[in-house]
Amino acid sequence: MDQVRVLIPQETISDAVQQLGRRITEDYQGHNLTVLGVLTGSIVLVTDLMRQIALPHQLGLVQASSYRGTATTPGELTINLDFLPDIRGRDILLVDDIFDTGRTLSAIHAQLQQFQPRTVRSAVLLWKTARRTVEATPDYYCFEIPDEFVVGYGLDYNHQFRHLPYIGVLEL
Ligand code: 5GP
Ligand code: MG
Ligand code: MG
Repeated sequence: MDQVRVLIPQETISDAVQQLGRRITEDYQGHNLTVLGVLTGSIVLVTDLMRQIALPHQLGLVQASSYRGTATTPGELTINLDFLPDIRGRDILLVDDIFDTGRTLSAIHAQLQQFQPRTVRSAVLLWKTARRTVEATPDYYCFEIPDEFVVGYGLDYNHQFRHLPYIGVLEL
């Protein structure tokens, strides 16, 4: 059986997401905010975070995947913008589970430019600061974590563990 060691408990996540929602609420007063979740890992964060943003805003989804099957190292990155709503002139907050190398959010950011959003920023729950390979950094993040493969709160390993209400380290 795979073992999961708790790294960030449920309560701690919930406090941090509440705080993040407050910051976004302050920063986006008077803006045309669209929260753009990156499927699939951001799904839990997006739904929790939206309810902590006390501003009218729209929701959109894009899909990105770089992890295949049982691999814990990234493979080829594919991005699907088929579900993207009209973002022209809007202030986009890209929301993802984790900023690891930064490749995913940088690539989505670049691809969004063709749709002429007014601004694009990013928010993530987790930031693996040691692994960054791109120049960009997340505009908002809740926790810095060490370079370990984590699961839970939306993050999976081979399609498992997304439902865990905490962030844990998978000990294979
Ligand atoms: P990046 O493009 O920043 O290297 O990777 C971002 C994506 O890789 C995340 O959206 C996530 O899907 C996946 N990823 C990176 N690190 C982890 C990890 O520790 N655990 C899991 N489950 N996914 C990860
Ligand atoms: Mg992802
Ligand atoms: Mg994944």
